[in-house]
Amino acid sequence: MILDVLQRIETDTQLPDAADVVIIGGGIAGVTATLFLAEAGLKVVLCEKGVIAGEQSSRNWGWVRQMGRDPVELPLTMGSLDIWRGMDKRFGIDTGFRETGITYVCRTPREVKEFADWADLADRIGMASERLDPAALARKLPAIARDRFKFGLHTKDDGRAEPWRAVPQMAMAARRLGATIIENCAVRGVETSAGHLSEVVTEKGRIRTERAILAGGAWSRMFLGNKGVNFPQLKLHGTVARVEIDGDAGDMPVGGGDFAFRKRLDGGYTVARRNWNVAQITPDSFRLLGTYLPTLMSSWREIQVRLNGEFLKEAGMPRKWGHDQQTTFEKIRTLDPQPMERYNRHALKNLARAFPVFAGARMTHSWAGLIDATPDAIPAIGPVKEIPGLFLSSGYSGHGFGSGPGGGQLVSDLVRGVAPTFDPKPFSLERFTAKGLRPGGAA
Ligand SMILES: Cc1cc2nc3c(=O)[nH]c(=O)nc-3n(C[C@H](O)[C@H](O)[C@H](O)COP(=O)(O)OP(=O)(O)OC[C@H]3O[C@@H](n4cnc5c(N)ncnc54)[C@H](O)[C@@H]3O)c2cc1C
Repeated sequence: MILDVLQRIETDTQLPDAADVVIIGGGIAGVTATLFLAEAGLKVVLCEKGVIAGEQSSRNWGWVRQMGRDPVELPLTMGSLDIWRGMDKRFGIDTGFRETGITYVCRTPREVKEFADWADLADRIGMASERLDPAALARKLPAIARDRFKFGLHTKDDGRAEPWRAVPQMAMAARRLGATIIENCAVRGVETSAGHLSEVVTEKGRIRTERAILAGGAWSRMFLGNKGVNFPQLKLHGTVARVEIDGDAGDMPVGGGDFAFRKRLDGGYTVARRNWNVAQITPDSFRLLGTYLPTLMSSWREIQVRLNGEFLKEAGMPRKWGHDQQTTFEKIRTLDPQPMERYNRHALKNLARAFPVFAGARMTHSWAGLIDATPDAIPAIGPVKEIPGLFLSSGYSGHGFGSGPGGGQLVSDLVRGVAPTFDPKPFSLERFTAKGLRPGGAA
């Protein structure tokens, strides 16, 4: 369904012989890096194996938020929100960004504690957040079921944007600034010369370059694995729906323990069953079990583990290949998993209890996406030490629509060798091999 509504843009067909930087992957991580590098005057080429924003970057809920984020990631997330705020004006585009604020509503003591603790953290770092008692909740969210929720937390600076068009619009802006963007162009690998990156090899030919950014979303682990680099990354399946209702549930994205919704600019609402992502068991689940165990133990309530056909499908994918061979990247142009309709029905049932205006909601579309998650749920942004000249911007762990522009800014700073806008240390790949990796929350 997503591919039917995703905004398509004009792209390039001619692969240049050489570039200052090649970007691998046309999701929000790759496109924002391309945009900022092109703005800085570099000759940039972006290769996307399918279509711009065909995977996670068009399938997400469209929340742009700092609320609830890990303190380690907050400076990047807050900076990213600043970029979102200025993006449309700066580049003459329309991403659909609206600074609506967002609210979480809590019923159980565990939920109340989680968000009250986070409000304390926001106070400590001077970030605006508002604690809401049931009366204040009813004023802020007039459509809410009275007295169903004990506590709410509101962050007025957060917002939402339209995933079906935001990243294509950014890619359009990058092209206007001189970037070359090529769709249906899988990158098979990179070559080195004298120990430094020298070429990017695509299915359409080779590009000479000394710098490349891998922004391959859920594919980054496989790509790096072929070069002997172990990037820990697993995939979580998330199901989403678009519904229409007769009334109005308000402009603000709202999350509860078992539902989430966001108003869309096309008049509908994007809804999902919050805290019910599915971890499909694959061969990587066993290879990475030790690394992910602490996270699984701390987030077991939010993750459903399933064994299905995905195991054999992934087991059949080559882990090593040569650059003259057709790769899995060419065979699977776009990850387009089936939605789990039972999850959408649950979301709508829970939502109708919390916001009665959703009773009788009509579901017009449903879709799914695979969220790429690192063991600590923090992205990896920085140089890949084993391949000098190659940088990684991946593993956004369910947060990348909001924090992607911040990640694009950071990786473009690192590639250019200028003072980084954000401290890169929390995002280094080396943390995965260091002792004491912290467990992350569920995506
Ligand atoms: C259901 C769902 C809900 C979500 N909700 C939110 C939300 O509300 N807010 C939020 O902040 N985040 C959310 N996210 C997460 C967010 O969408 C992602 O973190 C973000 O889009 C990741 O962007 P990316 O560019 O890293 O990856 P992607 O968007 O997946 O892009 C990676 C691209 O790389 C391409 N690629 C891979 N390998 C190659 C290769 N070898 N050659 C060429 N191209 C290649 C792929 O085809 C793909 O297009 C959600 C995600 C999902 C699935």
